[in-house]
Amino acid sequence: MSKVLIIGAGGVGRVVAYKCAQHPEVFSEIMLASRTISKCYEIALDVVRDTGHKNFKCAQVDAENVPELVELIRSFGPEMVIHVALPYQDLTIMDACLETGVHYLDTANYEPKDVAKFEYSWQWAYQGRFKEKGLTAILGCGFDPGVTGVFTARAAKHHFDEIHYLDIVDCNGGDHGKAFATNFNPEINIREITQNGRYWENGEWVETKPFEIHKPLNYPNIGARESYVLYHEELESLVKNYPSIKRARFWMTFGEEYLTHLRVIQNIGMSRIDPVNYNGQEIIPLQFLKAVLPDPGELGDNYTGETSIGCRIKGIKDGKEQTYYIWNNCSHQAAFDETGAQGVSYTTGVPAMTGAMMLLQGHWSGAGVFNVEEFNPDPFLDKLGPHGLSWEEKFDIDLEL
Ligand code: NDP
Repeated sequence: MSKVLIIGAGGVGRVVAYKCAQHPEVFSEIMLASRTISKCYEIALDVVRDTGHKNFKCAQVDAENVPELVELIRSFGPEMVIHVALPYQDLTIMDACLETGVHYLDTANYEPKDVAKFEYSWQWAYQGRFKEKGLTAILGCGFDPGVTGVFTARAAKHHFDEIHYLDIVDCNGGDHGKAFATNFNPEINIREITQNGRYWENGEWVETKPFEIHKPLNYPNIGARESYVLYHEELESLVKNYPSIKRARFWMTFGEEYLTHLRVIQNIGMSRIDPVNYNGQEIIPLQFLKAVLPDPGELGDNYTGETSIGCRIKGIKDGKEQTYYIWNNCSHQAAFDETGAQGVSYTTGVPAMTGAMMLLQGHWSGAGVFNVEEFNPDPFLDKLGPHGLSWEEKFDIDLEL
């Protein structure tokens, strides 16, 4: 029986709230706090109606304001914070957790607002302080990062003596019927995918132009989809934690329509993150664009098709070369029917709740800052299917890579 504070009332926050409320034996008291309290109430009404959870509260908080966070955490007294607001707030929430003696979990690494830069250095720098206080910080516990790290940990623990090649493959085979929309926060999403690509090879990072490397890959139950090499944050911790890796890449599918819109957005300057003067007021074009794009949290209705995310691995077991593929497929419609959110929010929120459960039940423990692959993958993967994200694995297959 534990109290948990969820911060962020977007698509992912909605799913985390639902999934925690489905397990009152673990999450006996839940508070959902966010910048706009009306969004918390909207989610709370649905969650309490559908799950019957008896102790669900809402609060307003600016997660970039440490004293405000500290006051909220002190007044509610949670064991842990599940942070599913935006990556900009990672450090302020970690600071507040340290000040109040509360465990921390997030789904995306810290990014400064003025540079689109994804690296763990800022959060890894908290290692000593979390250790000293005997607190656990779990970084990147969504799907990717998150389950992809746990999948890799399973491969390393049970199926390989050495992992040599790791390809994380992320396909959204769904159709939301809109000309252009992002599946999670548009500002964060567009910053991520318009960066140069980067992958790990023979001990160093190889940089590519955005969308430079691509090929069709086949995804279970979906078929062939053009897939592009991007930089993704879990590559940084995985190559550190599995030094036998010779090459690690991250692939994501994009449709032609999406890429054409993205090109136009970039060409006309709407993806800029520096302030511009408009009618005497400073605006950031990408933030303005977010305000006019479809809200990813509202995409669920009539969203058909599935996501398919997994790890394709080649390495050595008992002196022989082995290939391995582990993945989950998630139906947008099933996610929407259960939680009112589409599959991308669902595949992020379910692992966040599962990671929180691992911590509260003592399966994952330790003082310091951890990436998910550093914990035992078995209890997490035992629960992931029952929580809504079943997974499959196959050996000795053509990895296409
Ligand atoms: P949304 O934009 O839908 O939701 C973000 C929420 O955070 C909104 O409710 C927003 O409030 C709130 N928020 C923003 N700033 C603050 C602040 N200063 N104080 C308090 N609340 C704030 O995003 P998503 O739900 O799609 O994504 C949530 C997180 O999940 C992101 O960090 C994203 O990067 C991550 N993610 C991770 C994935 C993974 O697999 N690991 C995949 C997808 C997403 P308001 O309503 O007022 O705007």
